[in-house]
Amino acid sequence: MGFLMKIGYGWDSHEFRSGVLLKIGGIEIPHSKGLGGHSDGDVLLHAITDALLGALAAPDIGTLFSPSDSRWKGADSALFLAEALRRVKAAGYRIVNIDSTLILAGPKIGPHAAAIRKHLSELMEVAHDCIGVKAKTPEGMGTDNAAIAHAVVLLESVPRNVRRKSQKKSPR
Ligand code: MG
Repeated sequence: MGFLMKIGYGWDSHEFRSGVLLKIGGIEIPHSKGLGGHSDGDVLLHAITDALLGALAAPDIGTLFSPSDSRWKGADSALFLAEALRRVKAAGYRIVNIDSTLILAGPKIGPHAAAIRKHLSELMEVAHDCIGVKAKTPEGMGTDNAAIAHAVVLLESVPRNVRRKSQKKSPR
């Protein structure tokens, strides 16, 4: 059988709130406000996590990590991403590339984009030139007190012989 590809799409939004650290893509960004939410409010990690889960037709982030579950209060969103990555691997797939767009009035993401891409590259074991992070301001949308993230991912199936080799290398 030839190799298979799957596309995934994710979207998220969080409201800005005072007295919270701003975390986007796992990076702390200096700003007067952070993003509210049950976890650390990392809107970009949530969108990417949902894109990965969506590609697998798996339950979404809110189903796996319910906001009403006290275990996820203030949780590092890297945990959610790690579960999605575990499922990608278990299904016999790997990430080809990821693209994302943030929509927020501020702060400017451009100066932090390289650091975010580097961090995402380490979290997901994907080359940084296979991770797109773009940002726009919400012109005419009236969402100046929110951060919005869209993400798409492409997965490809890992050939069985490669899967067997990598399993030998890292026995569990
Ligand atoms: Mg969220």
